[in-house]
Amino acid sequence: MRRFELVLPESVDDCVRALAQRGPETKLLAGGTDLLPQLKNGLLKPARVIDLSGVARLRTIEPADGQGLRIGSAVTARTLELDRAVRARYLSLAESGALVGSVQVRNLATLGGNLCNAAPSADMAPPLLALDAEAVITGPKGERRVPIAAFFTGVRRTVLAPDELLVELVVPAPGPRSGGNYLRHTPRRELDIAVVGVASQLTLANGVCTKARIALAAVAPVPVRATAAEQALEGQPVTPDRIARAADLAVEVARPISDQRGSAEFRRHLVRVLTRRTLTTALARASA
Ligand SMILES: Cc1cc2nc3c(=O)[nH]c(=O)nc-3n(C[C@H](O)[C@H](O)[C@H](O)COP(=O)(O)OP(=O)(O)OC[C@H]3O[C@@H](n4cnc5c(N)ncnc54)[C@H](O)[C@@H]3O)c2cc1C
Repeated sequence: MRRFELVLPESVDDCVRALAQRGPETKLLAGGTDLLPQLKNGLLKPARVIDLSGVARLRTIEPADGQGLRIGSAVTARTLELDRAVRARYLSLAESGALVGSVQVRNLATLGGNLCNAAPSADMAPPLLALDAEAVITGPKGERRVPIAAFFTGVRRTVLAPDELLVELVVPAPGPRSGGNYLRHTPRRELDIAVVGVASQLTLANGVCTKARIALAAVAPVPVRATAAEQALEGQPVTPDRIARAADLAVEVARPISDQRGSAEFRRHLVRVLTRRTLTTALARASA
């Protein structure tokens, strides 16, 4: 591994200054579970690394305006798995955090690292798409907000400029009768990455679905929403037949590849099965 200079900022402003001063040869380090293997394998050879572990603001979970939640980018998967506020209203996000690696990995792996690494299989992305979250990004030109659905631009690519930092995710409050679920398929029970992941979120009023969100991972270069499937559910009661129809429509948005982890055909099959299962669980949770 090439030697690098380590920078240890204590505030977001210090991070932004360090990023601006130090140019494109700089990498941010959160938990390091994606970055350190890339450094060790020689895939990345930064001259400087900015360690985010001393920036307390990035590790906070706080109420947001309009009763949503602000989740700092350096909040770990383990915290999302266990946090009461997250589990109470954003269970699909807690479920995705609980699936990352092992407990040891989850104690290090952060939400921001998962999103900024931008692997198509990133587990914590689909629930955030299904929850209509926004990414708060800061840099030398100030702060900007990007809907998480527009955050990913390709495999391992995001809208972040080299001098920008992901600060937090703002997740709106789902309605009182809202439920979500995240499921993925992996050949092994843990320490494996998703062959396909699906998050669903349903909101009900008077027995009718007022909002449906379905987001898929590992079936395209970036996580995608199945909007036709969502529209097929909205404005009417959610029945098993409508769930089956939505699952068929979700398959149409998937553009999977075949690789050593599964064929494109198998991935399409998984989209149908996991969409049906997550919608069924989301409906039960919204109805409870
Ligand atoms: C054994 C093992 C098992 C794993 N299992 C899973 C799994 O089941 N599911 C899954 O989705 N992933 C898995 N991963 C991948 C990894 O753990 C996750 O993607 C994790 O969330 C990355 O977070 P991190 O804090 O470790 O990121 P880091 O490695 O610190 O950073 C990752 C990338 O994001 C950038 N970055 C980090 N924070 C910011 C920020 N705030 N702003 C801008 N850029 C930033 C870094 O510069 C780097 O490019 C696994 C990894 C290992 C080693």
